[in-house]
Amino acid sequence: MDLRYLGTSKRSGRKSDLRYNCPACGDTKFHLYVNIDTGVYHCFHCGLKGKAVQDLRYIQAAKPEVVERVAKKQTSDHFVDLSEDSIVQTIALNYWLSRGFTIEEAKKYNIKVGTENLTIAIPVEDSDGKFVFYQERMILPVDDRKYLFPRDAQVSRMLFSWHRAKKMHMIVLVEGVMDAMALGDVGVALFGKQLHDDQLALMNHSDVKKAVLWLDPDARREQIQAVAKLEPWLLVDEVLKTPPGIKDASEFREKLGNEKLVAFVKGFT
Ligand SMILES: [Zn+2]
Repeated sequence: MDLRYLGTSKRSGRKSDLRYNCPACGDTKFHLYVNIDTGVYHCFHCGLKGKAVQDLRYIQAAKPEVVERVAKKQTSDHFVDLSEDSIVQTIALNYWLSRGFTIEEAKKYNIKVGTENLTIAIPVEDSDGKFVFYQERMILPVDDRKYLFPRDAQVSRMLFSWHRAKKMHMIVLVEGVMDAMALGDVGVALFGKQLHDDQLALMNHSDVKKAVLWLDPDARREQIQAVAKLEPWLLVDEVLKTPPGIKDASEFREKLGNEKLVAFVKGFT
């Protein structure tokens, strides 16, 4: 097996495994473990894994193009299903599963693969459930960028998954779409740390009676502002006490499982 394209390697604890820098996440600490007999690979930094390490050639070849498109703030134009039909689809599917999501959830949220930027494309719908645009989660983050929006996306006037959550009695407001999906129908994303007045107006015209605000621990200022606006709804008016080392809902589910996340959310009601 020729693995020279992966660059220098280090030995691991096991004879059959070599460690490389993962080409997907820009890892520099040799987190990618490759079984040199079978080709099975797993990056313990970004979670990327698969059965054929040769597939990573594709990632390496595509990366300069992705970096260039992201620098120009171009979103993908082509979207395909999450499947094993091609290498990029397989990589995306692996990524989706490694984040703790299921095939059923991919169907429920109608998840696609953005082939140009190697992304998980998440449809953002309006309050009636009509498709508006794709928000893309980059599988290969470029610098610090993880998400791509179309230039004209007016996210301050929308709430992610609102057409599902608006019928619920209680909702959980989170920053990102991955967190909202991890929470299921009660999960609603603000597309950032701020709660905007147009978003609050949506809540005012809904069946929602109670809300939990779950921002990342670094959003102190935004937390205070949002708490003031959400006063009639709020079940908890302080920063949520998550288990040690867990900052958001998707991380919670990825590390501790769905049952514990459901129990954690139930604990507020
Ligand atoms: Zn990685």
